[in-house]
Order: sequence, then C-alpha cells, then structure tokens
Amino acid sequence: MSIPDIIIAVDGYSSTGKSTFAKMVSAEFGFLYLDSGAMYRGVTLYAMENGMIAADGKIDEEALRADIDSLDLHFRNPEGSTLLYLGDRCIEGEIRTLAVSSHVSPVSAIPFVRNYVDARLHAFSADGRVIMDGRDIGTTVFPNAEVKIFMTADPDVRAQRRYDEMIAKGQEADLEEVKKNLLERDYIDSHREVSPLSRAEDAYVMDNTHMTLHEELVWILGLFQGRFSILEAPALTH
Ligand code: C5P
Repeated sequence: MSIPDIIIAVDGYSSTGKSTFAKMVSAEFGFLYLDSGAMYRGVTLYAMENGMIAADGKIDEEALRADIDSLDLHFRNPEGSTLLYLGDRCIEGEIRTLAVSSHVSPVSAIPFVRNYVDARLHAFSADGRVIMDGRDIGTTVFPNAEVKIFMTADPDVRAQRRYDEMIAKGQEADLEEVKKNLLERDYIDSHREVSPLSRAEDAYVMDNTHMTLHEELVWILGLFQGRFSILEAPALTH
C-alpha cells in the first residue's frame, strides 16, 4: 500500500501522546518526523541558560530577540530517532525536564519566537512527506496539510502517562505537579493571542484515553484507506 507524499499535522493537548503516535506513523509508513514542541523547548532552554528568564518567570524579550536569528537549532537523525541539537550540542535530555516545561508556554507565546520556529519548520519540511506534531500545525504552520489530526485524552490519564515516562527516565516527579503543569500549559496554549491551540475545522479528532498504540495505528490506517481509496491493508509492524 502506498500513502502519497503528503503532510500530516498532529495537534492536541499536552501529553496526549502526539509524539509517540507521530514517531510510530513515521516509522511505519516512511515519513520524516518533526517535533515542533522540541523547537520551543530548545529556545526556552537557551533563554534559561543565558539568564533571560528571571526567578519570577519574567522573560527578557529584548535579549532573546537579539539572539534568536542566530540560534542554530536543528534535528539530527541517528538510527532513525530524531534528536534536537543546539549547534553541536545534543539537548534532547535537557529540554524534557519539568523546569523547561514550566517556562515553555510563556516563551512560545512570544510572536518573534513563533516566527523563528515556523521558518525553521518550513525549511526542514522542504522535501515533503512529513509528519509534524505540535499545537498549531494544522491551523497555522501547514493549514493546507492533507491530513490533520487533533489528539485529546482524559487529563488524569495524561498526567499518569507523563509521570510514568519521567520515572522511567530516572527523573524526579510528583503526579500532582505534573498534572498541574500540563493543565497550565493547556490553558496558556489555548488562550494566547498568536496561533492558539485549537482544532482545525477539518481535523479528525482522536481521543486516545482508552486506546493502545496498536489501536492508534489501526485508526490512522483506516483513515488513510478511506482518504486515498486504498483497498488492500498492509500487515502492521507496530
Ligand atoms: O509538545 P510539547 O509538550 O513538547 O510542547 C511544549 C510546548 O511548546 C507547548 O506546551 C506549547 O507551549 C509549545 N508549542 C507551541 N506550538 C507548537 C508546539 C509546541 O506553542 N506547535
């Protein structure tokens, strides 16, 4: 079965498993996977490490604006898994901490930060056949994406998943704090002025509260078959 060279936009609330789903689809059907949230986390880490975020959370926007165009944030793809780099430094581990999570939504609400990330995402996608996850991919970054998916799940289930993931990585975590952080991010992301998180009118909604990863794959396979009039169903490897 061949899926055409399309752009797939995956948006949704925090910790709904967008990147797990997008990585799986990328591996199964041969798409380039791009994690837009990682880019916002990378900008946030840079701002934190360079004293641009005060203890009370205030962001020194002028300092960040002066540096942003020279930030060399990009993905490298060793053995199929995509990692974020700042210059030659891999920052994949640092960008996933709760400290970065707690500052990333205010940083990503700044218009010049969004312009920087959008331009990078377009450059990375120039060759097409891309699956990208985020908050505004189907509404702003790629409004003409051929397939748009909006993911949601029960907040308690989302918090538990993120908590388990942090514990598995050996990070310290508190379930209530994790839940508070993701609800706070959902609120800020949905209420900011520039490209807020919202479902594109033509997005298919996936509520994966009670779905396994395999069921998610079967779901998108059915969607592809319907959209592209594909009769045969391939054996899935995930
Ligand atoms: O997807 P992830 O949780 O890593 O994203 C981190 C944060 O980056 C989000 O909470 C949101 O504030 C911001 N973001 C965004 N637009 C995107 C992707 C992420 O504003 N397209």
